Amino acid sequence: MNKIYDAIIIGAGFAGATVARQLADVGKSVLVIEKRNHIGGNAYDYYNSDGVLIHKYGPHIFHANNQKVFEFVRKYTDWYDYQHKVVANVHGKEMPVPFNLNSLYIAYDEEKAKRIEQKLIEAYGAEQKVTILELKKNTDPELKELAQYVYDNVFVYYTMKQWGKTPEEIDPNTTARVPVFISRDDRYFQDSFQGMPKDGYTKIFDNMLAHENIEVLTGVDALDKLTLDDGQILFEGEVFDGDVVYSGAVDYLFGNCYGSLPYRTLDFVFETFNKDYVQSHGTINYTVSEDYTRITEFKHMTGQVLQGKTTTCKEYSKSYSGAEDEIPYYAIINEENNALYQKYFEKAQQYKNLHLIGRLAEYKYYNMDAIIERALDLASKLCPEV
Ligand code: FAD
Ligand code: UDP
Repeated sequence: MNKIYDAIIIGAGFAGATVARQLADVGKSVLVIEKRNHIGGNAYDYYNSDGVLIHKYGPHIFHANNQKVFEFVRKYTDWYDYQHKVVANVHGKEMPVPFNLNSLYIAYDEEKAKRIEQKLIEAYGAEQKVTILELKKNTDPELKELAQYVYDNVFVYYTMKQWGKTPEEIDPNTTARVPVFISRDDRYFQDSFQGMPKDGYTKIFDNMLAHENIEVLTGVDALDKLTLDDGQILFEGEVFDGDVVYSGAVDYLFGNCYGSLPYRTLDFVFETFNKDYVQSHGTINYTVSEDYTRITEFKHMTGQVLQGKTTTCKEYSKSYSGAEDEIPYYAIINEENNALYQKYFEKAQQYKNLHLIGRLAEYKYYNMDAIIERALDLASKLCPEV
């Protein structure tokens, strides 16, 4: 291959595709290398053999507060207005999650719920959010009882399934994503922009990457083409001076030289039913029973109109073993793992034209909007004309 690229981007998820498009728009020639046989990363969706639009790597709901991010994605798709709502199945009873005032009135009789509501408002304020670990510190006997109820019925079993650890043993920012909400608002997210891409996520990536300055290779592991050697990056054996943006796992990039970073992976089990719908909400969390964490029914989220067929997805979480068929989905954030990540990060710093971005490359818990924001910033840093 004689073609000279200005930049090589590894990974065609939101991180890679966003940087690629931004650079291409200002005239840079970009090669995107994607290991999977499709673009879109974990946001990839497709129509299954029953004609149902499903998310191959688990349910993805777009939500953002950053106007710049929303403006960017809006260029590549129209949006279907969808406000995600989740319920927990608690011994057969459905209760809004995050646990809120509506959940409170399901959990307790009216008189007690009213009293607790008042106490919550006095302690934290109306329409405020309080994390379960904070609420557990409250010394009022009834709020203490509530905290224990929410901990037992919403958090502990689900968290054990998802992380193999209790809420106290994991990064507090993780459970803080789903705080107790002193509100009647049943939505999972309160961001100002929420929705689902009208034609699915993959179409966004098709549109973003369809550019004369972008070449995309799928089904190719970038490490078969690139070599990192003593501060220099070689592309097909020759020194490559352009920018290299890497959105895969950083330990893999360096041959696990300091040891493997721990991750959680997921098994997705899809089932199709000859019915219009099988459950009440897009996602039901199983917080006190079952081995899977949640079941998602895609049609609720995608707004797809299709009669007589519906597909659901159960998620089973387990520790990532590094096996060929497993994908690392979640960094396990704690002091020890962050310290190991730091060693890889410092190694990466030795390569001046190498840029790490993404959930795996940065070993962080990023949502799509946060990754797009990071990618827009990185593209501007690499190329001030962006
Ligand atoms: P990815 O999407 O993982 O893309 C990285 C790409 O790099 C992959 O396609 C990978 O194959 C490729 N790659 C890696 N190594 C190599 C290599 N050596 N050579 C070539 N290619 C390589 N976010 C939300 O905002 N809302 C949600 O509802 C939501 N739900 C989620 C549900 C689940 C189950 C999971 C796992 C994540 C969810 N997310 C959600 C987060 C979202 O998936 C991420 O924010 C987003 O995927 C990050 O994009 P990325 O480009 O960093 O990573
Ligand atoms: N969580 C929980 N019960 C729930 C929902 C969430 O215990 O019903 C905890 C769990 O530890 C989970 C974390 O809160 O990993 C974050 O949940 P979120 O839905 O944000 O996780 P995501 O699916 O987006 O990774």
